[in-house]
Amino acid sequence: MTMNTLGFAAHSSSDALTPYRFERRDPRPDDVVIEILYCGVCHSDLHQVRNDWGGSIYPIVPGHEIIGRVVSVGPDVTRFKQGDHVGVGCMVDSCQHCTACESGLEQYCEETPTYTYNSIDRHDGMHTFGGYSEKIIVSDKFVLKIPDGMDLKGAAPLLCAGITTWSPLRHWNIGKGSKVAVIGLGGLGHMALKLAKALGADVTLFTRSPGKGQDAHRLGADTVVLSTEKAQMEAVKGQFKLIIDTVPSVHDLNPYMPTLALDGTLVLVGFLGGIEPLLSTVPLIMARKSVAGSVIGGIAETQEMLDFCGKYEITSDIEIIRIQDINAAYERLLKSDVKYRFVIDMTSLKE
Ligand code: NAP
Ligand code: ZN
Repeated sequence: MTMNTLGFAAHSSSDALTPYRFERRDPRPDDVVIEILYCGVCHSDLHQVRNDWGGSIYPIVPGHEIIGRVVSVGPDVTRFKQGDHVGVGCMVDSCQHCTACESGLEQYCEETPTYTYNSIDRHDGMHTFGGYSEKIIVSDKFVLKIPDGMDLKGAAPLLCAGITTWSPLRHWNIGKGSKVAVIGLGGLGHMALKLAKALGADVTLFTRSPGKGQDAHRLGADTVVLSTEKAQMEAVKGQFKLIIDTVPSVHDLNPYMPTLALDGTLVLVGFLGGIEPLLSTVPLIMARKSVAGSVIGGIAETQEMLDFCGKYEITSDIEIIRIQDINAAYERLLKSDVKYRFVIDMTSLKE
């Protein structure tokens, strides 16, 4: 007996999202059945709906910033009970036995994690469908606890935008006084500012948008640099231990390299693909700089980030939308017109 579920899906790379009924699996003994309350809208949803990365499996029900309430749990589940507020991010399973999984790095599972949507369940071969829907069924190992009292709407984006920026901040040991920069003030960028600031860093934003300065300061930036202005770029030469680059499309990295300090790292989290124009190795070699990449974060690390956000009262700045407005929200994302994350109120599905 499977569970009939209503969601919104894209049926091809050129289609708008429309209502779609599909089957969720029969819950397994380790499963948590979750009624979805809110789901954030990540730029990755748009990339996958439009097949920017290739290999999209249609129909796609996107959504990997999920906040919900536990409806029921299987007999093997001990950490959750009916009524708990929980989160689900970008992964719903992984092999659980490779070196990466055993080190709490499920996002780098050597057999590839099972993603929340646009993936194939490793046990029953069913297509996975994400959070733009009424409910989801997830193995307890991949369900996160939402700290008591946290605003649920603003918590949704922590499940992807939050952890994707937290993980490199932690990996590169950012703390009190570290000089960090963030490229792009969107969903990921605004979480990076908040988290880096709360970790005690001195934070700079690189943006192309002159109108975002005031918000950037409010969100945690000590300095705002218009990346299109040569003099402003020159003024921050040799400063940063870490730059988190959240830009979603191909862009020139060369102008940012001189702003890294000796041994500094520019970590790409946004664009997947070839770097164009060519990246000069001169600044890398002459000051032992690195260009790196990072994807989301492990499950334990995601819980650590949520608990940190609970303690420091950090959530995302959001604009609530109805599911019926999702296609318009995608068009606004493409124009960088979002402050700073759209979150779908899932009660709108019933309209
Ligand atoms: P978003 O909300 O659309 O924000 C992206 C920001 O980048 C924009 O607000 C804009 O900021 C800047 N930008 C956009 N186009 C640009 C261009 N052509 N050149 C320079 N800057 C540009 O997107 P998001 O949800 O934060 O996601 C960002 C990227 O990260 C997406 O590609 C997404 O797929 C990826 N992602 C990766 C992971 C991971 O695990 N690695 C996880 C989630 C998302 P300004 O106006 O300030 O310039
Ligand atoms: Zn995402």
